[in-house]
Amino acid sequence: MVRTRYAPSPSGTLHIGGARTALFSFLFAKHYGGDFVLRVEDTDRARLVSGSEEALMRSMESLGILWDEGPDVGGPYGPYRQSERLVEHQRYAAQLLDEGKAYRCYCTPEELDAARKARQAQGLPPRYMGTCRKITVDDPIHQTHKPYVLRLKIPLSGVTVVDDMIRGHVSFDNAILDDFVIVKTDGTPTYNFAVVIDDWAMHISHVIRAEEHLSNTPKQILVYEALNFSLPQFAHIPMVLAPDRSKLSKRHGATSVEEYAAQGILPEALANYLLLLGWSAPDGREFMTVADAIPLFSLDRVQHTAAVYDQKKLEWMNAQYLKSLPVTTVAQAVRPFVEKLGITMEHGPSLEEGVELVRERAHTLQDLAEGMRFLWQNPEEYDAKGVDKHFSNPEVVARLQALAETMEQLSKDQWHHDGLVQAFDQLATQLGIKRAELIHPCRLALTGRTVGPGLFELVVVLGQEETVARLLTVATALSRGALKLEHPIG
Ligand code: GLU
Repeated sequence: MVRTRYAPSPSGTLHIGGARTALFSFLFAKHYGGDFVLRVEDTDRARLVSGSEEALMRSMESLGILWDEGPDVGGPYGPYRQSERLVEHQRYAAQLLDEGKAYRCYCTPEELDAARKARQAQGLPPRYMGTCRKITVDDPIHQTHKPYVLRLKIPLSGVTVVDDMIRGHVSFDNAILDDFVIVKTDGTPTYNFAVVIDDWAMHISHVIRAEEHLSNTPKQILVYEALNFSLPQFAHIPMVLAPDRSKLSKRHGATSVEEYAAQGILPEALANYLLLLGWSAPDGREFMTVADAIPLFSLDRVQHTAAVYDQKKLEWMNAQYLKSLPVTTVAQAVRPFVEKLGITMEHGPSLEEGVELVRERAHTLQDLAEGMRFLWQNPEEYDAKGVDKHFSNPEVVARLQALAETMEQLSKDQWHHDGLVQAFDQLATQLGIKRAELIHPCRLALTGRTVGPGLFELVVVLGQEETVARLLTVATALSRGALKLEHPIG
């Protein structure tokens, strides 16, 4: 039975690197009909951020990464919060101590620091100097109440090999590993110790995680061996780097699932984008939901080099989803963005109509909300360049008035795309001008901008009353020289 897990520390929001690890673990389990487990690694109490566990879960759910077992739903191999397994961790630590596979280390931080500096001065890598490894069980120091940690006694020579499903055989010299700490002075286990017990207790068959943990894996293998646990399969997924190939961080913009949501990236699009971040479908397809990817997913199609994050591609992907998801889904997603702009939609078109009209041109929900604004709010300012271009002809006031009149005279039955085209054409012929000479000023008068959705489509949605009113407002303002410009030139 394939069982994978995602094991975040509840110390913040879900970073996209973490989201991608979770996604790949989930897909791998589901591909093989297995279970995906969520385990919260909350042992390091100093790093806990309150509300983080809940936020991580909501972010995962939004992406469609759903766990079969976890702290909220429970399951047969709990507890699913690492801190709740403390007694078990301590029991295994005591067993290793009894068996002489671990030992108490009384070295103080100052002593360790001095030894580390001395090694550094000789150009040697940091390594525990081994003082306490030599202390015998009957040494009187054990009767003192000096604080101690537990260290694993690891082989002084030889190699530990990680047999990785993505990276192949990766060999680590035991000499450069360390008698690392498995239990801290306060009795809590370290990550490299607890993770082994948890993965084993939860029957995890495949440990799929970020490449940054590859150097921890030989240590964990040594713990597995010391405890006589059978090894899971390991797979380390290459990093997600920023475009400049540095570690992706805040300074590159949004990095957490929550931040993308706030920017107006749809979770469907983010999930699809994450799928392609280091993995490709065998048939080369780019568009797919998480569910679509289940039958297609395999680790051998995970690339071996770091994946480079590309905001433009994410936005492009988002634009495709804005265009193709059901209108009602997009409307629901964009509503908070529209409200944030202070737009009330009491009068005028429905939100769905607005989405239909504008979504072709939007990259984010923010763009979409901004692009729909004119439907419910009169433009307050008009694009200065546009005004210069389309409103400078002295005829324009008369033309806008004539257009308003024409629009007013149309019956409800004529208020559709073709009806409007016909009306514009007739008026243009009557005025002896080209249709475009009506279209451009009209768009600017109705929306304040020179670009946007097709004019006839937008007029249909804006409605007769509003169209007429706006044309007249602009005509009046122009005749009084009172039109407010956006970013006036000069
Ligand atoms: N809590 C660790 C982390 O968030 C888990 C690493 C692992 O998957 O073993 O990086």
